[in-house]
Amino acid sequence: MGTVISITLFERNQPVVEAVYDYLQRMDQVFSMNRPDSELSAINRQAGQQPVAISAPGFQLIEAALAYTRQYPASFNVLIGPLVKLWRIGFGGQQVPSSTRIQACLALMDPNQVKLDSVRQTVYLQQPGMVLDLGAIAKGYFADQIVLQLQQAGVTQAIVNLGGNVKLLGSQPFTADQRWEIGIQNPTASRGQPLLQVQMPARTVVTSGIFERYFKVGQHVYHHILDPQTGYPVENKLAQVSIITAQSELAEVLATVCYFQGSQVGMATIEQLPGVEAIFIDRQQQVSVTSGLKPRRKGVYSIE
Ligand code: ADP
Ligand code: MG
Repeated sequence: MGTVISITLFERNQPVVEAVYDYLQRMDQVFSMNRPDSELSAINRQAGQQPVAISAPGFQLIEAALAYTRQYPASFNVLIGPLVKLWRIGFGGQQVPSSTRIQACLALMDPNQVKLDSVRQTVYLQQPGMVLDLGAIAKGYFADQIVLQLQQAGVTQAIVNLGGNVKLLGSQPFTADQRWEIGIQNPTASRGQPLLQVQMPARTVVTSGIFERYFKVGQHVYHHILDPQTGYPVENKLAQVSIITAQSELAEVLATVCYFQGSQVGMATIEQLPGVEAIFIDRQQQVSVTSGLKPRRKGVYSIE
């Protein structure tokens, strides 16, 4: 999946660790963009040709991603694939594409051109060249599923970390108040250097930022969060957004959406959603947080 995944348990349970490992291997067979034999590759290859029958998890996640695409059309689009391929940000060989080619991609991103058949469990991309890309939602879905599997196996405390998309289970085993403390990476410092810390019960913390995958032309930075309306990387003052809530899939989507909206509009979006908090960090390391994050001491916030 292009990242490091770690599961931390506080008791010995080799079978459940192996079961999660096998689960992730299976999910890679369903969702990988890099494997020609994945279900996702089959759907994309058959664009404009025919519907493709897929497994239940694939169907579920695509259905959810399409619903979010309709809900947040200005920022989240699961049909971003042609643009991602065109820009190739984070994969080498990068250059700024011509606006003609960008326009051509934008014409392939209409969610109404995806036909889902829930009885046959098929997905059909109606135009040749359409490409589903679940990169901004899949890791959240996997984190939720893994925590569910751990719970079903009787595990009561765990940390699941999919390349920085963190989901906690149960209570912190080592502190008196049993609350977790999660560091939010300083967007411009080296890895492992938190800019601030958040104390919380078991939640998920998901960050979208522009400092991990980008390329530069002169002074101009082109990063990997692409605007589905213009076809270019979104331009604003933010370095990163972290979302803290119960469901990791939702957190992934909201991290991308809030990155687009910027701190002011994004703040309003999150304040309307019960049980969701957000941390906005701009390129000058200015921090803004939603009302559920209470300052405790310098650089430390707390969520009830
Ligand atoms: P990361 O992979 O670093 O966790 P994100 O979760 O923000 O980053 O997802 C970025 C990926 O999502 C991109 O690599 C691309 O595949 C896809 N993507 C980029 N822009 C959008 C967008 N506006 N809507 C949906 N998916 C996007
Ligand atoms: Mg994300």
